[in-house]
Amino acid sequence: MIMRNRFGWSLSRESIFDSCRKRYYFHYYLSWKGWKSGAPEISREAFLLKRLVSLPLWRGQLVHYIATKVLQSTRAKGRIPDQAKVLDYASLRFEKQYQFSLDRRYLDTPKKSGGRLNIDWLALFEHEYGLRITDRRLETAKSEVREGLRNLIQSGMLKRAARSDPSGWIIENIDISEFAQSFELDGVIIYVKTDFIFRDADGVLNIVDWKTFRKGKDEESADNGQLGVYGYYAASRMNEPFTNIRMTEVNLLDSASERSFRMDKELMERSKQIITEGVEKLSSVLVGADTGRNEPLPPEHFPPDPGPKCRFCNFNRVCPDSAASPG
Ligand code: SF4
Repeated sequence: MIMRNRFGWSLSRESIFDSCRKRYYFHYYLSWKGWKSGAPEISREAFLLKRLVSLPLWRGQLVHYIATKVLQSTRAKGRIPDQAKVLDYASLRFEKQYQFSLDRRYLDTPKKSGGRLNIDWLALFEHEYGLRITDRRLETAKSEVREGLRNLIQSGMLKRAARSDPSGWIIENIDISEFAQSFELDGVIIYVKTDFIFRDADGVLNIVDWKTFRKGKDEESADNGQLGVYGYYAASRMNEPFTNIRMTEVNLLDSASERSFRMDKELMERSKQIITEGVEKLSSVLVGADTGRNEPLPPEHFPPDPGPKCRFCNFNRVCPDSAASPG
């Protein structure tokens, strides 16, 4: 089977494009086929670098991964798993993944085999760039993973879900490590990554997004754009009347506090506009704006945007325009 670098829109893809076009080029085009032994050295390097995650990002990813496991267990057994067991499991994964990255085993171990994710595969930005992680930072990250999962187990959202009919639950299939949910809009694949969808006892379809940010510290904006896109997906792909869709962000590092809102006509229109404008923006750097062909314009169409963010850019060491050393 010939693999094609298929074009698809997602919020995360557009966000990389907005942060720096050169970074976008490294991530989505230069790295393509970089997993092949005969690929050009720069593509192999870009492929290695695109998969790095920073310590704070990994912390959030691990909470999401184990939250998925908690939901799978709740669905299979009809009850919320024991908190102590979940926290033990979290600590074990944390330590194994960290050691895997510290030993730089990501250099010679496939991330996936047989279509499934190696659950302890991790490549930390800090390890690849030789940056020191203090014991204190590591302990904080670990205790935040445990705190997030403790809050999940005790959350009203999980209890509500556990009382609902589990047959209709939609849980992110994190074991295959790719976007499992997508739909087509005007011939373009649109990827979404909902954490959890279930129907409440009142018949409302709930779209749940787990968040892991400290209030006031790394607070995220209260923009409804991301959840609006998820709501648009549920309305168009699942044929759910939009008036019956409720979106909720649950911040697991803030005692599982909730921020909910309902889909409405205005948000449906705005979400569609976010997607179509995003596709138009990303296709502006393709030959003939042809998303089917997905061939990038020459590199000069992907100018660098150097600044403080270069410190945290995965491609720092291959980018001649970087404005700062990593870290
Ligand atoms: S190092 Fe800076 S300029 Fe270079 S790709 Fe990254 S963000 Fe862009």
